[in-house]
Amino acid sequence: MSLPLFEKVAFIGLGLIGSSLARVIIAEKLANQIVASTRSQKTLDDAKALGLIQEGYTNPIDAVQGADLVVLALPVRATQKVLEIIQPYLSEKTIITDVGSTKANVVEAAKAVYGDALPEGFVPGHPIAGSEHTGVHAGKVDLFAHHKVILTPLPSSADWAIQKLIQLWQASKAEVICMDVEKHDEVLAHTSHLPHLMAFNLVEQLANREDNLDIFRYAAGGFRDFSRIAASDPQMWHDIFFANKKAILNAVDGFEKQLAVIRKLIEDENSQALMGLLGHAQAARQHFNHMLANRPLMEKNKVTTQQFTILPGKKNFQGKFSVPGDKSVSHRSIMFGAIAEGTTHVTGFLEGEDALATLQAFRDMGVSIEGPKNGEVTIHGVGMHGLKAPASELYMGNSGTSMRLLSGMLSAQKFDSVMTGDASLTKRPMERIAKPLREMGALLQTTGDRGTPPISITGNQKLKGIHYDLPMASAQVKSGILLAGLWAEGETSVTEPEPTRDHSERMLRAFGYEVKTEGNRISLQGGGKLTATEIQVPSDISSAAFFMVGAAITEGSDVTLEAVGINPTRTGVIEILKQMGADISVENERIAGGEPIADIRIRGSRTLKGIHMPEDQVPLAIDEFPALFIAAACAEGQTVLTGAAELRVKESDRIQVMADGLKIMGIDCTPTDDGIIIEGKGKSGEWDAIFTGGEIESHHDHRIAMSFSMAGLRTSGEIKIVGTETVATSFPTFTELATEAGLAIQVTE
Ligand code: NAP
Repeated sequence: MSLPLFEKVAFIGLGLIGSSLARVIIAEKLANQIVASTRSQKTLDDAKALGLIQEGYTNPIDAVQGADLVVLALPVRATQKVLEIIQPYLSEKTIITDVGSTKANVVEAAKAVYGDALPEGFVPGHPIAGSEHTGVHAGKVDLFAHHKVILTPLPSSADWAIQKLIQLWQASKAEVICMDVEKHDEVLAHTSHLPHLMAFNLVEQLANREDNLDIFRYAAGGFRDFSRIAASDPQMWHDIFFANKKAILNAVDGFEKQLAVIRKLIEDENSQALMGLLGHAQAARQHFNHMLANRPLMEKNKVTTQQFTILPGKKNFQGKFSVPGDKSVSHRSIMFGAIAEGTTHVTGFLEGEDALATLQAFRDMGVSIEGPKNGEVTIHGVGMHGLKAPASELYMGNSGTSMRLLSGMLSAQKFDSVMTGDASLTKRPMERIAKPLREMGALLQTTGDRGTPPISITGNQKLKGIHYDLPMASAQVKSGILLAGLWAEGETSVTEPEPTRDHSERMLRAFGYEVKTEGNRISLQGGGKLTATEIQVPSDISSAAFFMVGAAITEGSDVTLEAVGINPTRTGVIEILKQMGADISVENERIAGGEPIADIRIRGSRTLKGIHMPEDQVPLAIDEFPALFIAAACAEGQTVLTGAAELRVKESDRIQVMADGLKIMGIDCTPTDDGIIIEGKGKSGEWDAIFTGGEIESHHDHRIAMSFSMAGLRTSGEIKIVGTETVATSFPTFTELATEAGLAIQVTE
């Protein structure tokens, strides 16, 4: 049996928070002994009766002797006095932590006792969980589960102490975050202290009215939800408001200002601006739910992931499906609608996190946007010179498209800006767009380690048109340059080594902006304007590709994917599958919003064959290779891919990650610098299982996860795919549609 984390834990204060942590320590067997000191003997007696402590003392000195962890779980204002008393009895190796809701004053209290030489074991903390109830009976073993605990290590704090506290709090099933003391107090002032202050104050305002009985009697759920926290302990909040006075006053000032804004909009009956404000706030609320939980700060000790399990067994794979809207087109519809003159309506918008990041960025730059609701978005364009400085960094989540295209647009604005992203985006190369933009006169810095995000842009630069020979085929870099060119003096042109996605060019034309394409050279003149239009976003061929591959490898399958975008710069996957011998037809071709669309029907009627994938199709199928590797594994003979080094710097190193997964599932393959060699296991006319099953690490790359899901159509053993939560980013309905088609897929959090 392994040793418990602590020998003896001493709680000073054992109310709601302290006793909840004591319950965790008991449940998880984290200490040999738990003792406590509180003011009243009754609390100690109750705690003993509840089985929470072995010994209780009214004098804290008795409690802390020989303890290797001391938890101050009492009102913050009592910290200094308690520390003064116990300090002589603590050893160098004692970990001292607290749970107080403010942190600067806890550190001040410690400094008043220890001077500047704070003990190594001192690591302040704050569980962001609680209730309106107090006392030792109110504690719950699951109080902290799925909540956050913030540790605020000091320069003096030792790593061994921090690590042990992280383990302690993780045992309570909390997510542990480390941040510095000032940041903690500022963040909490806005997210906790201000809302409590507002709740107390609103209830006070209503309670003072003569008709208060009616108001409370007939109050609806909204009032109940909003005012719940006004039932919290007044003494505690009194202390917090004073303890964090400076940051709270700042937050109150900000609130007053914002209140004046919304008041004026209502007074003036400014409908569009009020809708803009409410829509922005609503989207921000959703955005915070979905995205900010993944911000790097919080990723450090993140524990939750999602997993797909695909069960073996013979499958039918059939049906007619509409996969979600094209991501590339969705992004651009917002960007161009925002800088156009007039109101742009978008239908079929992909409500995935990436496109929502773009949408949020433009809202942050003052554009009034309604929706998305069932794929519909209305953008009130502000014209070429109407974007406003965002209040803070623009968060691009996982979206490389947003960051590279916006680099171009933001370089040409009058204001400074900073773009950040999640852990995966933060590793992706951005110098490839920064370099040509600098040649145009832009002032931007990639402030990450190796030319990676965050990107910091200094506004108010005069851009001039350039000609740029793209060293690699990249639609994002091409688009970023062309977008900067909209504001640049003279002509901006780009020559690409291979044709890449031309959604930007097509959509700029749909917005009435002239863009010339002569062979591989694309050019436009700066200084024009965009005029609002209607955009129907086609279904995303990259999402459709998983179902195309699924159908191609499954006997008797018959799948039709409706209204898929078949822009010639995206149809590499169709061409490659055709060359591999797939039974695929493109039906009912038509044009929507400047983009060609069609229904794609694919049937599992013959065994695919291995090919040397044509290099000229590589840029046209770049996102579809993970899925195509699954097709290659099911094909007869060898498949060779070359000229696809780009795959190594996508959301993951897609060559290596796919090769690792394929090998686990019994496929012989060799990754190369710019591609892969896959020995297909298929045999003409046979439809037996190809894959052995196994556990796949997707590296949080949505396309890896969805590709290996399709391998489940030809597996003899169960496939577990770890880290699938990013699937919702590009394809929110993936598991639903895959299940409907016939794949046995289970999702577990
Ligand atoms: P609580 O339920 O009222 O318990 C406070 C405990 O501290 C009681 O055991 C009390 O002793 C003891 N105590 C009070 N003054 C003391 C003193 N001078 N010397 C020794 N012990 C003393 O409070 P709580 O909700 O657990 O809050 C404790 C800390 O957690 C506070 O700093 C608060 O800011 C923080 N916090 C609270 C919440 C929340 O939602 N409640 C959330 C996060 C953090 P008696 O039992 O003898 O009265």
